[in-house]
Amino acid sequence: MRISYSSLETYKQCPQKYKFQEIDKRKAPKTKEAIFGTAIHSALQFMFSRDPLFPTLSEVVEHFRDKFMEKCLLPEADAARYCDVGEKMLANFYKKNPPWNFNVIDLESHFEVAVVDEIYNVSHTLAGKIDRIDKLSDGSYEIIDYKTNRRLPSQNDTDKNQQLAVYQLGIKKRWPHVDPSKVKLSLYFLRAEEKISTFRSPEALAHAENEILSQVRIIEEKTQENDFPPVPSALCDWCGYKPICPAWRHLYEKEKKPEIQSAINEFLELKREIDERKKKLISLASIVREYMQIEKLERVFGDMGSILQSRQERASWDSEKVREILSGSNILDSVMTVDPQKLSFIVRSLPDEIQEKLKKEARTVKTFVVLKVSRKKEKAPE
Ligand code: SF4
Repeated sequence: MRISYSSLETYKQCPQKYKFQEIDKRKAPKTKEAIFGTAIHSALQFMFSRDPLFPTLSEVVEHFRDKFMEKCLLPEADAARYCDVGEKMLANFYKKNPPWNFNVIDLESHFEVAVVDEIYNVSHTLAGKIDRIDKLSDGSYEIIDYKTNRRLPSQNDTDKNQQLAVYQLGIKKRWPHVDPSKVKLSLYFLRAEEKISTFRSPEALAHAENEILSQVRIIEEKTQENDFPPVPSALCDWCGYKPICPAWRHLYEKEKKPEIQSAINEFLELKREIDERKKKLISLASIVREYMQIEKLERVFGDMGSILQSRQERASWDSEKVREILSGSNILDSVMTVDPQKLSFIVRSLPDEIQEKLKKEARTVKTFVVLKVSRKKEKAPE
């Protein structure tokens, strides 16, 4: 199977999007953010390509504008707004990172390496593209990925970032002689003008490789079952497949069936009414419960019937504690695979002292007061 960081990320975000993109190979129109990102990346690649001199800032900005305007179909005012943001980003970057200060050894560097799944004895191809690779003055390397988004991750998130791990795996397989501790991995956030860097130990890299392989196994299994559910989220607004996605397509249908529309609308109205009534019921129950508590009443009466207080207990179990107390006993497996209600029954068959220990240390019991209603029977006509 051929995989890349972006395909793994797409699967994590939404399996249906992954299917459109990687299996059905359906082309989706690029969003304006994607066009903007591509134009910025292209301008940064141009900025570090010496021919024979490095381009000036205005040449870099012009390159960005050309690339962006070539693909964007936005109204003039919106396009101008994007151009302004891009220009500012590039100007700040250029000022802080004059290209002649860096020893760039590769740009938009493609890699394709084999990753072997020893459990299933299959080999997968891990492919990707690194924005920039620098050789630093101490002989080490720096892998840089540019980001145009606003959100700045924490150092901890960067240390676990899968994209950077994929890039380092690419470098490791391509240049096995390079010591992983001599490869600095950086994310450069252009809007915030911040660079966050990390390193990966050989153990962390092996862990990342295992994680990738287990994700690939899941994807392969789901491919066999053709199981790619859509996962609607805020990110759908940036998904080019929205008009054909089963979670959104109906919204885009021009001719909707009137009888189905009326059933949908009636359902929604009924659901709203039920929800409102449920809310009202909760608020009335709390008034009645409070009154009964203050007046120390167990039953109250209305015109249509009575309301009786009844107490119910619900137990929940701390699975770690249960495991600890029962470790070594032959019922541990059956206990840990049943649900909490069944667990309460099983516990009753245990020796008294274990029962006591479990109840004391691993069980939490909450008592609920339930109001039970009995309605007045209609009187038979005389
Ligand atoms: S629109 Fe949303 S739910 Fe549909 S494929 Fe795209 S990301 Fe998934």
